[in-house]
Amino acid sequence: MRGRRSWVEVSRGRIQANFRAARALAGGAEVCAVVKADAYGHGAVEVSRTVAAEGGRWLAVSGAEEGAALREAGIEGVRILVMADSVVASGRTMAEFGLTPVIHELGEIAVWAAMGSSLERRLEYHLKVDSGMGRLGTRAASPEVARAVAGGSPWARMEGLMTHFASAADYMGSQTEAQAAAFEAVRAVLRAEPEFVHLEATSAFAYGRSARAGVGQTMVRLGHSIYGYVSPVRVRPNEPAPENLLQVRPALTWKASLLAVKELEAGAPVGYGAMFRTDRPMRIGIVATGYADGIPHRLGNRGRVIAGGEWAPILGAVSMDVTTIDLTRAPELGPGDAVTILGKEGGCFQDAQQLARVAGTISYRILCGIGPRVSRVWVD
Ligand SMILES: *Cc1c(COP(=O)(O)O)cnc(C)c1O
Repeated sequence: MRGRRSWVEVSRGRIQANFRAARALAGGAEVCAVVKADAYGHGAVEVSRTVAAEGGRWLAVSGAEEGAALREAGIEGVRILVMADSVVASGRTMAEFGLTPVIHELGEIAVWAAMGSSLERRLEYHLKVDSGMGRLGTRAASPEVARAVAGGSPWARMEGLMTHFASAADYMGSQTEAQAAAFEAVRAVLRAEPEFVHLEATSAFAYGRSARAGVGQTMVRLGHSIYGYVSPVRVRPNEPAPENLLQVRPALTWKASLLAVKELEAGAPVGYGAMFRTDRPMRIGIVATGYADGIPHRLGNRGRVIAGGEWAPILGAVSMDVTTIDLTRAPELGPGDAVTILGKEGGCFQDAQQLARVAGTISYRILCGIGPRVSRVWVD
């Protein structure tokens, strides 16, 4: 690590433990670790290495470029599924780097087959069904899907059939059950059962939604839980929440150094727009991380960090490069000392879900919003 303005420590042991917990819950089904968006800010190469060392056989990314970067970093011997790209735009890269595309439109099967034919190599793909999310995936009627998959060129083979739930953490509506049924209707008409059938991401998996809907699967695609998070469910008032079956813990701790500590008199303005004004003499700290590093601007006058094992409220506006905090309860801290944005210090603990709630966003956004300027340090 060259600088010590702001850094994250990612625990290899936690990633391993979370992956193992997922595997145990998955029974015999394959756990595909989703490492898109630089592994939700954790560092895709190192997470991929860790998962591969644990015996993981599948990784998933969003784009062909992400997959190619992993191959170039030496990630071999594991399959890489490309979930949100197109064989029309990126097929050549996918073939060159041994990536497996998710195909979203039946017409693209022929494009992929033509690629296979030109390379004289049979190429695998996974077909995504839009079972009701209204985003990526084919909406073709099931007989048409069956025909497109069975017929056509021998150069492209459907290895997997998948879908994605829109409201997996929501127990107030029936969208998930409707999606599972729509998916099953397509699956039922296929001439042969694909090797990999996968529906669930973290929320659906942790709450056992496919199993409850009577849908079997041979793979799950997990991102959030590999990094230690499962979102809470939404249930109707007075209804019991279903149990989270997947016990995981956050793998990432986010810290930053104090650049300066100073005493302000009562009535002094703090930061842009004088959004905060001291109501008493106050000891403040200027922390070396700001919205360019991923601290949500919305945390101005609202969020808090942990300093000296005590809660330290954010004062005034979050700036691009620095954030000002109240150090009244941590008088022993001085320039160069570290504070914690995500993690545990003393009796205080803050994770991405808590921070997200205060900032009016989601934990996913907090994690993948941690900027490239923040160093990644791997610990055991
Ligand atoms: C991102 C993504 C996942 C992983 O979702 P998590 O909630 O992070 O587990 C799974 N499937 C698809 C299609 C995705 O885009």
